Amino acid sequence: MATTEHITVIGAGVSGLTTAVVLAEAGRRVQVIAEDIPGRTSLAAGAMWGPYLVEPKDKVDQWSRYSLEVFRKLATDPATGVRITNGIEASRHADAPPDWATTLPGFQPCKPDRLPPGFTTGYRFEVPLIDMPVYLDYLQTRLLSAGATLTQATVTDLDDPTLGPTVVNCTGLGARHLAADTNLHPIRGQHVVVTNPGITEFFSEDTGTSPDLLCIYPHSDTVVLGGTAITDCGDLDPEAAAAILDRCTAVEPRLAAAKVLAHRIGARPTRSRVRVEPIHRPDGRTTLHNYGHGGAGVTLSWGCAREVEALVSGQA
Ligand SMILES: Cc1cc2nc3c(=O)[nH]c(=O)nc-3n(C[C@H](O)[C@H](O)[C@H](O)COP(=O)(O)OP(=O)(O)OC[C@H]3O[C@@H](n4cnc5c(N)ncnc54)[C@H](O)[C@@H]3O)c2cc1C
Repeated sequence: MATTEHITVIGAGVSGLTTAVVLAEAGRRVQVIAEDIPGRTSLAAGAMWGPYLVEPKDKVDQWSRYSLEVFRKLATDPATGVRITNGIEASRHADAPPDWATTLPGFQPCKPDRLPPGFTTGYRFEVPLIDMPVYLDYLQTRLLSAGATLTQATVTDLDDPTLGPTVVNCTGLGARHLAADTNLHPIRGQHVVVTNPGITEFFSEDTGTSPDLLCIYPHSDTVVLGGTAITDCGDLDPEAAAAILDRCTAVEPRLAAAKVLAHRIGARPTRSRVRVEPIHRPDGRTTLHNYGHGGAGVTLSWGCAREVEALVSGQA
């Protein structure tokens, strides 16, 4: 379908870039405007596909399933930074597996003697792991190839008529100010990136509501270690980074030989419900919101982008 309608997407995190790719590849004229290219929170993600702690459940199931299909296709090309990875999610309590995990390929309970010390239950499955710096570069290249433009700037007013007839708001936490949304709050996360001492499988702990998370996500030459979930924004916390290294090394002793390469910090844009919603204005212009994806923005990205495209087309 070819159209000349002009669409402005605000935000170049995983939500904005994916939405802009879907719109541009559907034949629309798209410009992306963002303060940070790429978005800082998206760059900080681990990232594993998994619809953790986001609502509304029916929509989240639909969005995340669609994204899973897309990530599986992307994983056939290593240049995307997406890889299907086998590994274990484990718990120190006798917890049932999350329902989304039970349908994944290779899903099976682990024998207790295959779990690290201190863990009582665990499940093995295959899931997409996404190397975010590589993946966000891939999305930017794909976006520009589809004819869209990408401009670094701050938008101060969603009603600014120079943004054009259709504006898609993918500003993550920025929507607290731009859309005056008091339902949004930051849950800070911190990761330590280290050299890969030969780890090929992921490991993550179901830590419930604890602010101290444990995840080991191997990418090609690096491993992303996590993490934290603390209700605030903020910069590097060296004590939290040291604790992450200790927790992960206790589970995977090979990490003792790994060298720290970087620290990544971001604030999950958390909301009681993800907001994918069109607002039709009396002057005929439309704002479509697509933000508030909490700790699952990568997981939901393709499903939410497809819904925005359907809303723009008048099909949803
Ligand atoms: C440590 C950590 C680990 C995570 N792990 C996972 C995971 O394993 N799996 C998963 O699915 N999710 C994970 N997440 C969550 C995921 O990273 C977020 O849900 C997602 O990145 C949100 O993307 P976004 O594009 O909506 O926001 P952002 O990445 O924050 O992008 C927002 C964009 O909007 C721009 N912007 C904001 N305000 C304005 C303005 N006024 N004008 C112009 N531009 C503006 C910003 O500059 C930026 O480009 C994790 C998050 C963290 C912090």
